[in-house]
Amino acid sequence: MLMTEMTKEQLEEVLSQAKSEYEGYKALGLTLNMARGKPAADQLALTRGMLDAVDSSSDCKAADGTDCRNYGVLDGLKETKKLFCDMLGVKDEELIVGGNSSLNLMYDTIARNYIFGVGEGKKAWKDQGKIKWLCPAPGYDRHFAITERFGFELITVPMKADGPDMDMIERLVSEDESIKGIWCVPMYANPTGITYSDEVVRRFAALKPKADDFRIFWDNAYCVHHLTDTPDTLLNILDECKKTGNEDMVYIFASTSKVSFAGAGVAVMAASKANIDYVKYHMTIQTIGFDKINQLRHAKYFKDYEGIKAHMKKHAAIIAPKFKAVLNALDESVKPLGIGSYNSPRGGYFISFDTLDGCAKRVVSLCKEAGVVMTGAGATFPYGKDPKDSNIRIAPTLPPINELEQAMKVFICAVKIASAEKLLAK
Ligand code: PMP
Repeated sequence: MLMTEMTKEQLEEVLSQAKSEYEGYKALGLTLNMARGKPAADQLALTRGMLDAVDSSSDCKAADGTDCRNYGVLDGLKETKKLFCDMLGVKDEELIVGGNSSLNLMYDTIARNYIFGVGEGKKAWKDQGKIKWLCPAPGYDRHFAITERFGFELITVPMKADGPDMDMIERLVSEDESIKGIWCVPMYANPTGITYSDEVVRRFAALKPKADDFRIFWDNAYCVHHLTDTPDTLLNILDECKKTGNEDMVYIFASTSKVSFAGAGVAVMAASKANIDYVKYHMTIQTIGFDKINQLRHAKYFKDYEGIKAHMKKHAAIIAPKFKAVLNALDESVKPLGIGSYNSPRGGYFISFDTLDGCAKRVVSLCKEAGVVMTGAGATFPYGKDPKDSNIRIAPTLPPINELEQAMKVFICAVKIASAEKLLAK
């Protein structure tokens, strides 16, 4: 029976049962974590061989003879670039292989535009007064945090089933010159799991921003992170932007943080040749170049894009059952009571859960008190403020499956308590 249709007495009964179950969990002294999208130890072990891909007797030479132990090569080894050009569908001149974090490339890109402008002869963002930024939400907290730290005004854009609300985006960017950018996770989005439809990608490419220095930050972090054998597909935004004459409007990012090693993989940035040339012009001053030995390891280990795809199937075999465990638990205990809605992602790292309005904070705090750490309620919205206090991001990859099942019992119990309290208070 739906809890929203229960009588006061029935709700009180649910609440009292859930509370006694909860006290039982508290007594177990659990320490479980479903907070951050980290790969589990057995996922990291999948790439153990990569550490030997460049062995100690090797002279660390790239295919063209470059000695990877020495200075030189700003935008990445040819063979490593090829790997990621094929993955993202861009040309060699449209890609830079960076360091160990795509988030770092995004931060640097914003800092560069803020200090120097988006290109030769363009006014720096810092000299243009108030800067505003579009944030599709629920979204990735670290994206929002970067633009908040720069002092930009964050504007929440609702997420729909096929991507962000494009009507709103088209209207806002065409009217307001102070809007300089938007965060996008176009495939298996963090946390909603949504992949943008072809129509949404085309509408992005066809935007007519009032600001000629408006930029789309297309964070394709989960482009190869499929959980099924029938993966979602995503249109190539750079190709679409070329068709509309907007090829300088987009920066694409990705990394192997959840392919090889989290925080010890390689990150890439792709964009029009003009944008990439401009980035390199500034990068030459910023750095002597990135870690080519790690780039060589990745190229030697994966060999080609097919190698990455085959490797990602091994990740899916480990994590798909974890997603299934979470979803089974929700289907069994939450769905029949109508006290939450959630997505069933076909890829990525998260399940996005919506409680009844006004319950998310209470659920997360009940979980914490019983030793289960969740991502903070509100984290998926700009400024950490979820207007409905309903969204909770579930990250199922890190805990072993038995711990995950235990954590879900606590979570579901907390959802029952918070929902019953809320409905009784009405
Ligand atoms: N982008 C998104 C959408 C993410 O979810 C994450 C990791 N949670 C990152 C970027 C971080 O990427 P990196 O490790 O390459 O900095």
